[in-house]
Amino acid sequence: MRESWLAKRTQTFDASGIRRVFELGARLENPVNFSIGQPDFDVPQPVRRAAIEAIESGKNRYALSQGMPVLREKLLEKIRQLYADGDRDLIVTCGTSGGLVLAMMALVEPGDEVILFDPGFVMYPVLVRLFGGVEVYVDTYPNFRIDVGRVEAALTPKTKLILFNSPANPTGMVAQAEEVQAIAELAFRHHVALISDEIYSAFSYDFPFVSPARFNPDTIVVDGFSKSHGMPGWRLGFAHGPRTIIQEMIKLQQYSFVCAPQPFQWAGAVALDVPVDEHIDQYRRKRDKIVAGLRDHYELVPPSGAFYAFPKVPFGTATEFVERAIQEFELLMIPGSVFSQCDTHFRISYAVDDATIDRGIEILQHLARMKT
Ligand code: PMP
Repeated sequence: MRESWLAKRTQTFDASGIRRVFELGARLENPVNFSIGQPDFDVPQPVRRAAIEAIESGKNRYALSQGMPVLREKLLEKIRQLYADGDRDLIVTCGTSGGLVLAMMALVEPGDEVILFDPGFVMYPVLVRLFGGVEVYVDTYPNFRIDVGRVEAALTPKTKLILFNSPANPTGMVAQAEEVQAIAELAFRHHVALISDEIYSAFSYDFPFVSPARFNPDTIVVDGFSKSHGMPGWRLGFAHGPRTIIQEMIKLQQYSFVCAPQPFQWAGAVALDVPVDEHIDQYRRKRDKIVAGLRDHYELVPPSGAFYAFPKVPFGTATEFVERAIQEFELLMIPGSVFSQCDTHFRISYAVDDATIDRGIEILQHLARMKT
């Protein structure tokens, strides 16, 4: 009976992929955990102090729906310097996810087609379906580069939006400036909205990160502090884009999330002045370690950013391979089917200490040699 109360939209997706890894992992005593999509460093100390100070001084009430001026103005100043476009506005959101939800809610109508890259972040297809849209996948296998010709071929009169993510989850690929420019200009030319998820922009190891907002003033950027400042639990993000869209997102925030947590907005303003280069250097070294350890054993496109690698399985499906890694070697990873129509690759998160990386590489080398 109760089941019949559920809206149909709840049946359009399930949580089984990652949940299965967590369930298997929960029974293990000392797993090598390559499944976690968050940094292993903590919030920088001055930022923690600023949050405590904000709480102690009573900054605990509702914040403005668009965000507190202390953070908004600082972010806007940065953004207006980067993208000299007078019409850009900004909203402070509950994590980058909050920005994604509001942007999709503001843009996607039933029947709208949304272009997603395969593989891609788990939340994208779910959000498309929740708002009645239809996901249209552009395959990026085997090198995970964006072929703008393929994107153009996928456009139809129903295309509303392209959802772009670089540095990318789960592949760790960072789009080159030419690719970014091509996709940005394509969207502009065809009057298609472009959302750019830039949550990993600080984690670009080999060349500077480039945003499509540089080439397309209508780009809606979603970003946040979860990864760059090790604060995924604080739920602080922001989005910027054309004023008309951001204003609608603010209106929708008023009637949904209400506001992002106030004390963390004060801390976020401090975070903007705290350099994170040291962590980025450490993660570049971790990336190098993973690539060096797996290169001769797996088909692996060397990642340039985020903190993921996405190698191809040496035998069977990714789901079988990951289950075996967990059951026989206590190594937790996420099978490609969670992020993709294909079940051929697996995601490693190397946001862990070096000893864990070494143990994981050893197990993965052993698994590759089993070949059956
Ligand atoms: N976008 C991508 C590509 C992500 O990987 C994540 C988190 N895993 C998010 C958005 C959501 O980030 P937040 O925790 O700030 O909501």
